Amino acid sequence: MDIAALDVRYGPVRAVRGVDLVVPQGGITALLGANGAGKTSTVMAIAGVVTPVAGTVAIFGRNLTNATPDAIVRAGVAICPEGRRIFASLTVEENLILAGSAAGNPETAATRRAALMERFPILGERRKQLAGLLSGGEQQMLAVARALMSEPQLLLMDEPSLGLAPQMVDTVFGIIEGLRAEGISILLVEQNAALALEVADHAVVLANGAVAASGAPGDLAGNDILKSAYLAA
Ligand code: ATP
Repeated sequence: MDIAALDVRYGPVRAVRGVDLVVPQGGITALLGANGAGKTSTVMAIAGVVTPVAGTVAIFGRNLTNATPDAIVRAGVAICPEGRRIFASLTVEENLILAGSAAGNPETAATRRAALMERFPILGERRKQLAGLLSGGEQQMLAVARALMSEPQLLLMDEPSLGLAPQMVDTVFGIIEGLRAEGISILLVEQNAALALEVADHAVVLANGAVAASGAPGDLAGNDILKSAYLAA
């Protein structure tokens, strides 16, 4: 995925300013920065949820700038949003059933649901439980499973570790590395820069909506620009 010169505005607020960003095929790009730096707005523009005022979004060689969220899902992109956004008053299985329209037909959706409940056994065990009763980590697994219902090639993950117990953070990051091993490209938005830099192949730091630094994770870890991007919040 390749985005170039992306601008997102909310009225007078310039949330994203001229951002260039690449996710290598089958790799993880970490998108870092303080609260309000423009990370979620960038993700939402890629997903087609907000319309950029300028710039281009190319996904697997196709220009998908201004495409609808539906078209972007069909192009192989799925989003795991900040705060997980699962339906707390529905069961685990019902949450996956709702995501099933992305699978094309009911048989395919049922097969994918079954495979995901095998892949994440805790979701299989709790399939009849209300999603709101799951732990934070289990809810994050459900959010990942829901995103995988469309069998994406590119996964946009917004703050997957937020609010999770340390052990669960490890589990979730293990899942992220497993997805990359399967060839899925991942844009990983994280407040926890150290953790994200451990798994990423490439990293981009945003400050006040613009790219403050980008490069190899090893070069950015401990970098003053990264530190000041967080202190600027
Ligand atoms: P966080 O980690 O807090 O989600 P972020 O890096 O993802 O931060 P964004 O949520 O993209 O940053 O916000 C970028 C800027 O745009 C901030 O100044 C924010 O206040 C503003 N903003 C975000 N969403 C809206 C909106 N719907 N309307 C107006 N301003 C918004």
